[in-house]
Amino acid sequence: MKKYLFICIFFLAFNLSSNEVTFVDVKELNDSSIEVSYKLDKVSFVRSYALKEPSRIVLEIEDSNIKSLKTRSFNFPIKQIRAAQNKNTTKLVIDLYEYVDWEKPVQEKTSEGIFLKLKLKRNRKNLKNTRDIVVAIDAGHGGRDPGAVGSNNVLEKDITLLIAKELERTLRDVDGYSPKMIRVGDELIDLNERYLSSRRMGADIFISIHADGFRLSSVKGASVYIWSEKASSIAAENLSKKELASKIGKIAIDDFDEDKAREDFPNIYKLKIEGSKRLGNEILSELRKDPYTKLHKKNIEFADFRVLKSFDTPSVLIESGFMTNPDDAERLKGKPGRRMIARSIFLGLHNYFKNQPVADSVFEKDSKHVMYEIQKGDVLSEIAVRFGLSVETIEIENQLENKSIYPGQIIRLKI
Ligand SMILES: [Zn+2]
Repeated sequence: MKKYLFICIFFLAFNLSSNEVTFVDVKELNDSSIEVSYKLDKVSFVRSYALKEPSRIVLEIEDSNIKSLKTRSFNFPIKQIRAAQNKNTTKLVIDLYEYVDWEKPVQEKTSEGIFLKLKLKRNRKNLKNTRDIVVAIDAGHGGRDPGAVGSNNVLEKDITLLIAKELERTLRDVDGYSPKMIRVGDELIDLNERYLSSRRMGADIFISIHADGFRLSSVKGASVYIWSEKASSIAAENLSKKELASKIGKIAIDDFDEDKAREDFPNIYKLKIEGSKRLGNEILSELRKDPYTKLHKKNIEFADFRVLKSFDTPSVLIESGFMTNPDDAERLKGKPGRRMIARSIFLGLHNYFKNQPVADSVFEKDSKHVMYEIQKGDVLSEIAVRFGLSVETIEIENQLENKSIYPGQIIRLKI
């Protein structure tokens, strides 16, 4: 019995430290895109990038190992799939016959393990491999956690979701972005799960949307926060170990350890902090221009907001205003007020990517314009408000006669 227990513990310990990468398959999906999948033991830090001449996509999985280094040949557009092991890093190379549209790999958690999936699709127009920028949108609170309650009885959880959906809609209809919602409905999601799921989604940036509450109803205005290790450690010092454990909650064995990664990759963490500051400042400067919204704080704030703690993904939290202030509560209750918050976030994040274009994204070549797809029900005056433009500018830029637009039409917006 004792011996058996020992073997069990040994096996468990061994399993915890190992992270084996196994090739699963390549399959064609219904939308004629192709999916390459691997199995992992735990959610990992995965770098992904595309290369030219010859066309290929590379995935680097940190803290992992692969047993089979076999090169596999495939059908068009995949030429072959290779693997290499360099110390703790597994490198997977997908050699291609041509340039494709690809998506940042996602990590799906299942009872059988973690599946790392890379999607790609043929696009004859491509002169290089192109991917969308992935924006994780986190609507604060939800379910039995209402967040702050407004002086008009409006709940923070409802406001955050509406702003999140407005931002999602803009990102969806602008070419080059892929929005991913952390919560889509009125559900309660654990704080750890919010940043962990953003990692599994392959997010390039993480945006958390909130609205404050305060005992003084006179306090109002929007603010932008980024995570600070210092603020976080001060907050932690003030809690007993037991309190801390219950506050932080458990992270599953197969999930990613952000704290360890922050120590293992200090340079990447430094870039994350710099990126978060830049992103926060861009959003703040757009909020400053918003005629509906007043700022609570002029500068970005640092706080112990756990949802922002990813070690490598620039992350910001926007407090859209104070629910406890009657003016702010009314502003956030109305569509125009919420739309302005979503617009500031969108323009701010677009400026962020404009100033430092992501390799392989559509903005690498032209970051001054975005291509917007007209949706059913769209009117020019509303598009103008959503993007901070005038109707005239849009008309001239797109040579629109009689303001005629139709669903599916692509227009250029200079932002
Ligand atoms: Zn909140």
